[in-house]
Amino acid sequence: MNREIAKVGELLNRARRVLFITGAGVSAESQIPTFRGATAAFADGMTEDGMPFEEALGADTFREHPALSWKYLARLELSIRGKLPNAAHKVMAALQTPRRDIFIATQNIDELHQRAGSRTVFELHGNLRRIICTRCDYGVHVETYEALAKLPRCPQCDATLRPDVVLYGETLPVDVLDAFQQEQATGFDLVFSVGTTSLFFYVVEPVMAAARRGVPVVEINPETTPISHLADFRFAAPAGPTLQDLISSFPGAG
Ligand code: NAD
Ligand code: ZN
Repeated sequence: MNREIAKVGELLNRARRVLFITGAGVSAESQIPTFRGATAAFADGMTEDGMPFEEALGADTFREHPALSWKYLARLELSIRGKLPNAAHKVMAALQTPRRDIFIATQNIDELHQRAGSRTVFELHGNLRRIICTRCDYGVHVETYEALAKLPRCPQCDATLRPDVVLYGETLPVDVLDAFQQEQATGFDLVFSVGTTSLFFYVVEPVMAAARRGVPVVEINPETTPISHLADFRFAAPAGPTLQDLISSFPGAG
């Protein structure tokens, strides 16, 4: 067995509180395009409406032209429709035991961690399947957008509805950040960064904090990222097979 796998397997086996920071790469093996994959569908990153994807999904565009934003939100929904958790999601869920708490801070909006059975998931960028009212407290969970109008309106107050996701230019949900912050204050004894380009400070900071405290950091990503130099263990490989190797490396893991 690979020595690095054995070492991280040993750390995992002993750990009581493990944090997984995850990004689009974790869902890539569920055939959901990563952000780069999604924008590659547009020539020069421009949508056919003549604006970059990020702008179409921006808070300003949503406010001024909600139907335009909905068009591209619906495409995101189409990219996650019917997709199932893969080995990476399943291993993270299987690692939860009465002796070991697993915390997942994800940038993904596809809900696949919960569908795999993970219980503590901080959805930093929200959830595309939750639809909320821009004015009142109305909210609903939908399996797909098929039954929604192109510009859905609130059944209670007729205002525009929106997916409960963080649009470009918006701040992260305060309640989610608070809950994540509390667990960070208690600390972790092992931190993973899996399938994320680590471009946002809120996914970089927990890794830096772990490194400062001498908590082992593991990165799983075929490509190097801004946090790669902080990782004590780096697996330049896909998430699913790597996590499967890790969980198979120690007895009684599941
Ligand atoms: P990203 O698309 O910027 O980067 C994906 C990362 O995953 C890259 O570093 C890539 O090297 C790595 N990767 C690709 N395949 C992998 C695999 N099989 N195993 C492990 N790693 C793999 O994603 P990001 O860093 O999460 O940030 C992009 C933004 O796009 C986020 O804001 C996120 O909310 C959003 N997004 C979400 C989804 C989703 O919900 N599934 C999909 C696309 C984009
Ligand atoms: Zn309403």
